[in-house]
Amino acid sequence: MKPEITSNRLSILVVDDEESIREGSERILTRMGYQVYKASRGSEGLEILCHHPVSIVLLDLKMPGMDGMEVLAHIQRLNPEILVIIITGYATLETAIEAMKQGAYDFIPKPFEPDQLRIVINRARERIRLTEETEKLAQERQRNLADLGTEKSRIRTIVESLPNGVLVTNVQGQVALMNPAFQWLMGIEEDKATGEPIEACIQDKGFCQLVEDISAGKTNPLPATYEFTTIGEKYLLASGRPVLSDEGECLGAVVNLVDITAMKVLDRLKSEFVAKVSHELRSPLSTIHEQLALVLKDMVEKDSSRDQYLLSRAKEKTQGLISLIGDLLDLSRIEAGNVCIDCKPVKLDELLKSIVDFLETRASGKNQSLKLVLPDEPLPMISADPRALESVFGNLIANAINYTPDGGAIEVGIGLLPDKIRPDKIRIDVSDSGFGIEAKDIDNIFKRFYRVKNEKTRFITGTGLGLPIVKGLLDELGGSIQVRSEPSQGSTFTVFLPISASNSPQDTAS
Ligand code: ADP
Repeated sequence: MKPEITSNRLSILVVDDEESIREGSERILTRMGYQVYKASRGSEGLEILCHHPVSIVLLDLKMPGMDGMEVLAHIQRLNPEILVIIITGYATLETAIEAMKQGAYDFIPKPFEPDQLRIVINRARERIRLTEETEKLAQERQRNLADLGTEKSRIRTIVESLPNGVLVTNVQGQVALMNPAFQWLMGIEEDKATGEPIEACIQDKGFCQLVEDISAGKTNPLPATYEFTTIGEKYLLASGRPVLSDEGECLGAVVNLVDITAMKVLDRLKSEFVAKVSHELRSPLSTIHEQLALVLKDMVEKDSSRDQYLLSRAKEKTQGLISLIGDLLDLSRIEAGNVCIDCKPVKLDELLKSIVDFLETRASGKNQSLKLVLPDEPLPMISADPRALESVFGNLIANAINYTPDGGAIEVGIGLLPDKIRPDKIRIDVSDSGFGIEAKDIDNIFKRFYRVKNEKTRFITGTGLGLPIVKGLLDELGGSIQVRSEPSQGSTFTVFLPISASNSPQDTAS
């Protein structure tokens, strides 16, 4: 291994067969602060070099055995950084010059004065210092370049990982960079586009125009935006800005691309919702308007019995509107997550009994039988919001009454799941012998405003919001609902409700 050389405390080797030169040099150099090694023969000197970090060698050319030129060649092979200063008599000046050509750093004629030696050594030392300085600067530059490389690759990684599409073009509108999100959104094959004009990779003319205008500095520094659709039915929003130099010169464009499909769908749903609500409100309001106009006319003609009929119809319509608005408010609260579920222990059998009792009058008005069937075993308490449960079962039982013809049967039954020893769910079936629902409608009845319109149901009033409310509340309660139905035979809506873990048959309601 090559001994390391530093200029802190330099070591010098004196190789000379003349003892006076070795001793004299040692005295001078030690006083100058150097560590000195001495050798009377070339081979001895090389041995020292192999084991000690020597920076400068004072080398006599004329020596018995291995001569100075040979030693010089060995030193250069061993460590070319060692500075060799040739010590020579006048007679061998030419050989000294030859040695310099072979790579010796300097020479000093013998015999020499102490000052001569000091000057030569100081020169060599300065050279070592400069070499070290240059090396340090080179290392620093290398480090800076490495840092710069890391920074560049970090920025590249960030741009490539962005969820939004990024496109960068030069001033001619040629692609300089497209990140993977951009390529994916635009359906462009990987790395095909770099260096190409933008129209070669993108078909949408408006988008290309936007990029070209920004790249050429035709737009102001504010972001220019453009909305468009792709073949894959994606809605995209591009917004771009020019890239400006320190002098304000336009160097190209950077364009950000966002997938706004979800926003667009939401916007469409909102419009549909508003249209539906307006439609639902308009027809009862027009009826009320006409009826009030007739009442006013009648008041002029003073026919009071007709007035009573018209006013009661108007009252019915306003009641319909009030329920619609109530349902709308409930639904929007549930969908916004603002429904306050206030869970407490509930005796489900008692809660169902009170709903059945309340709706009994409505069922008997249609000559229907409405029955609550309880299991033989005691039911566990469930932890739920009683108001939410009233709304769920109130809606389901009212629907069963509404969509079952006169004289039909409605039954509310409770059961435990999966076994009676340690149930984790409770099951409530609301069955009717009514009109039933066709398979094609079953998936839709939980959508807002969806109402099955056929000969049997067209005169039944409703908002189409009851089942969406039921579904929303059950989601909040951690429950679920299933429907089985046979047209003209009847329907069964089955609700599953979780029983809290602390429950056991011992905690059962009496
Ligand atoms: P609404 O009853 O106000 O119309 P819902 O959301 O409660 O709204 O119900 C949506 C539709 O599902 C109803 O219009 C009806 O066509 C159908 N439906 C609900 N319950 C029953 C049922 N028990 N039997 C037959 N059809 C039903």
